Amino acid sequence: MHSLRSEHMSKRLYWAMSIIILCLLLICIPLIVSSSQKFQHSVKTYNEIKVLEHVADLANKISRERAPANKIMSSSIEDFEKHRKELADYRRGVDQQLEQTQLILKNAGFNTLSAQISHTLIPTLAHARQDVDVYAALPRTERSAEKLDQSILSMFEAWQSSRQVLKGVVIESEIPSTKLSNFVSQILLLSDLRDQAGRVASNVMAHVTFGTVLPETNLTRSLQTQHQVLYLWDLIETIQPIQDKTPEFIQLHDEIKTQFIDQGLPLVSGLIEDSLQHRPYRLTGTQLTEAMVDKFATVIDLQTYLLEYSHDLAYQDVQKNLKDLLWTVIISLISLTMAIVTMFSARRSLFLPLITAREMLFDLSESTDRNKSVNPQGVRENPDSLFAAIQKLEHSLQQRDALEFRLKNIAHSDSLTGLSNRFALEEYIRFLEGHPSKLSKTCLMMIDIDHFKQVNDQHGHIIGDHVIQSVADCLKSNVRTSDMIVRYGGDEFLILIENIDMNNALTIAHKIRKEVKAETILDADGQHIPFSVSIGVAIGAESWVRLFEAADEGLFKAKAKGRNAVAEG
Ligand code: GH3
Ligand code: MG
Repeated sequence: MHSLRSEHMSKRLYWAMSIIILCLLLICIPLIVSSSQKFQHSVKTYNEIKVLEHVADLANKISRERAPANKIMSSSIEDFEKHRKELADYRRGVDQQLEQTQLILKNAGFNTLSAQISHTLIPTLAHARQDVDVYAALPRTERSAEKLDQSILSMFEAWQSSRQVLKGVVIESEIPSTKLSNFVSQILLLSDLRDQAGRVASNVMAHVTFGTVLPETNLTRSLQTQHQVLYLWDLIETIQPIQDKTPEFIQLHDEIKTQFIDQGLPLVSGLIEDSLQHRPYRLTGTQLTEAMVDKFATVIDLQTYLLEYSHDLAYQDVQKNLKDLLWTVIISLISLTMAIVTMFSARRSLFLPLITAREMLFDLSESTDRNKSVNPQGVRENPDSLFAAIQKLEHSLQQRDALEFRLKNIAHSDSLTGLSNRFALEEYIRFLEGHPSKLSKTCLMMIDIDHFKQVNDQHGHIIGDHVIQSVADCLKSNVRTSDMIVRYGGDEFLILIENIDMNNALTIAHKIRKEVKAETILDADGQHIPFSVSIGVAIGAESWVRLFEAADEGLFKAKAKGRNAVAEG
C-alpha cells in the first residue's frame, strides 16, 4: 500500500514535470515554427530575386536584339556578312538565356511562366526573327521603309512577350512589401524604360535608313514613346524612397538623365525635326542604332545595380533569419534541457528523499503503534495521509513519554512504601548542591524505627513490613507532597523540607513521633505490637554531607535519650 502511494506520488511528480515540459514546448514550438517560416520565406524571396535577375536579363537581351537586327536590315552590302554574323552570335546568346531561364523558372516553381516562354515567347521571337531574316534577304530594290518598319515592330512584339514573363514573376512572387518590393517594381519599370528607349529610336529607324519622310503614324508613335519614357522616368524618380537613394543609385540615375534623357532623346528629336523640315537626316540608320545603344546602357546599369542591391538585401535577410532560427532553436533546446535537468535533479535530491522520509515516517508510525489497525480481513491498514502518520507518531511519542515517566517513577520509588528511594535522593542532592542557597534553608529529618530487629525477630518479616508501611504512611500524612520522603535504608527514612525553621521542623517531628507511637498493628493472636521512631533534625549546612552528619547526630542523640524521641543535630 505504501509503495503504491509512493508510486502515486512519483506519478504525480512525472505528471507535473510533463506539464511543465509541455508548457515549454507550447512556447518553443510556435517560436521555432515562426522563425523557420520566416527563414523559409526569406529563402524563397532570395530565390525569387535570382529568378527576377534572370528574367530581367532575358528581357533586356531580347530588347537589345533589336540593335543587331536593325543593323543587318539597314546594313550596306559590304558590312552585311559582318552584321549577319553579329546577329547570329547574339541570337545564340539569347537562345541560351531562354533555355536557362526556362529551367530556372521551372526549378523555382514558376511552371506557368516557364510554359509561357515555350508557348508564347519563343514562337513570337521566332516569328520576329523570321520577319527580320526575310527582310534582310530581300533584294535592295524590293525593300521599303514600311517593310523595314514592319520587321522592327515584330521585334517589339517579341519583347512585349518577354515583358509579360517578367511581369508574371513580379506578380507571382511573394516578395514582401518592404524595400524589396519597391526595388522589384523599379526593376520592372526600368525594363519598360529600356524598351521604350529602344522604341524611341526604332520608330524612326526605317525612314531614317531610307531617307524618307516620317509618316504620321511613326511621328505619333515616336512622340508617344518619348512621353512614355519621360513618364516612366518620373515614376522611377518618385518610387524610390529618399533613404534608399544610395550614392550609387544617385550616380547611375544622373547618368541616365544626362546620357539618355538629355542626349539620347534629342538625337531622335533632331531626326524628327529633319523629317518635318524635309532636310536630309543628320544620321544614317546604323549611326542612330550605335549612338543609342550606349545611352540604353545607362538604364541597364541602374537596373543591374538595383538587382544586385535587392539580391544583397535578400541575402542579408536570409542570413539574419537563419541566425534568428538557429538562436531560437538553441535557446529553446537550452531552456528545455535546463528544465528537464532541473526537474530530474529536483526529483533526485528533493522529492525522492521526501518520499523516502515519508516512507520512513509511515514505517516508524506503524512500528511505534501498539494497536496497529487491523481490518476485518486481517490486513493491516495504513494511515490515510502523511498527517495521520505524524499524528499517530505524536500519539506514540506521548505514550512513550508517559511510560518513561512511569518507569522513572518506578526506578525512583521504593516498592514497599511507595516513597522515594536513594536514586531519587541522589538526584535531589545533585540539585541541592547546584543551589547552595537552597541547601542552607533545607531541613533534613532522619527517622529510624526503634528496635526494629526485635519486631522482625518476634513477629516475623511480614509484620515487620507492615510496621515499615505504617511508619511511611505517618510520614506521608505529616508533610506536603512537595516535600521529599526517602526510604533510606531498611528501617531508616529521610524527610527533606525546604524553607522551614527549627521550631516548625521540631513540631512536625514530634507529631510524627506521636502518631507512629499511636499506630496499632496486631499480631496473629490479636496482640498489639508496640513500635516507635527516633528522629534527628538538622537545618542548613554548607554541604549535603554536613547536613546529613548533623541529622545523623540528632538521631544518635534521640536514640540515646531512650528512643521514641526527637533531637536536634
Ligand atoms: P535501633 O533501635 O538501634 O535502631 O535497633 P534496631 O533493631 O532497629 O537496629 P537496626 O536499625 O540496625 O536494625 C534494622 C533491621 O531492620 C535489620 C533488618 O533485619 C531489618 N530490616 C531491614 N530491611 C527490612 C525490611 O524491608 N523488612 C523487614 N521486615 N525488616 C527489615
Ligand atoms: Mg532501627
